[in-house]
Amino acid sequence: MGVLRLARRVPKAWVAAGLFLAWRLLRRDRRQRVPFTGRKHVVLVPEAVERALGETTFARLLASKRRVPESDPRARRVAALGAAIVRAAAAGDGAGGYVDHLRDAAWRFVVLDDPAVNACALPGGKVCVNAGLIDRFAGDDAALAFVVAHEVGHVVARHSAEQLTMQAATQLVATVAQGVALAAGGPAPTKQGAQGVETLLEMGLFRPRSREQEYEADAIGVELVRAAGLGDGSASIAVFQCFDALADAAGAAGAMTKQLSFLSTHPSPAERAHAVRERLSLGGGRAVAAAAGALRGGRGGAHAPQRAPAAAPPPQARSKAEQMKVEAMGGY
Ligand SMILES: [Zn+2]
Repeated sequence: MGVLRLARRVPKAWVAAGLFLAWRLLRRDRRQRVPFTGRKHVVLVPEAVERALGETTFARLLASKRRVPESDPRARRVAALGAAIVRAAAAGDGAGGYVDHLRDAAWRFVVLDDPAVNACALPGGKVCVNAGLIDRFAGDDAALAFVVAHEVGHVVARHSAEQLTMQAATQLVATVAQGVALAAGGPAPTKQGAQGVETLLEMGLFRPRSREQEYEADAIGVELVRAAGLGDGSASIAVFQCFDALADAAGAAGAMTKQLSFLSTHPSPAERAHAVRERLSLGGGRAVAAAAGALRGGRGGAHAPQRAPAAAPPPQARSKAEQMKVEAMGGY
């Protein structure tokens, strides 16, 4: 039986499902506090499911990509930085945030034999750093530490599980709305109409949330490198300058990404550098709530992005296709 026919027959069940979900979402005790930033979010994905998703994706990733051996100095360097950062995260206990998902995390830090300057994180504690990024920061442990800490920040803040929760919730609510419209005698939704709704949800909900998560991972990354004794967080600016230069070197596609950053899943490097500078000027530490507000404001408005100073040209630029592929898997 098709979904539309089912909706015609049992619209009350769909409405009840939607109301139940809304109740679950709105219950205050379902909201979790993100460690270090204090932002509250709703995550309905159980920790065990989150970990399993991370493990499965990690296994697929390793099966499809070549890995630098663990004995390689680059892999040992990333593993050492990662261990120090994870220790700092555990010792800080999330500055009062929700950390239950970290208790059974099986952290792995691997280096992929990929020349693209990028890194990614998977739920449950899997962090991948490309060899191209390590080569770019060959003599700058503080910058590389910030990259690793940013990725750890995504895991600490349960960003993947939050996105999954949002996607499931919006799909269910949209289906309920269709069921209600049909029950009221409205026209059956067209394929074009459904695609339009999906596009609006993507542009209005998921991309802004994705950008907010990048700012948040930056904020947590700064806190973690400080707590781990790996710098004061200012090395992050060099990282953003590198990515800014990469966007420049990418040519017209990169320029468009910078001008229309609100269409991207990631804020521009200049916007991120600006937000981190604001955070550093706050002095860090427990000024997290104020910093979180500043970071959210950093998306625009009063916090207009400032262009980061020019950096040394990158060794290579990613193609647009490469960039989109990496963003899809939660790249740096
Ligand atoms: Zn990120």
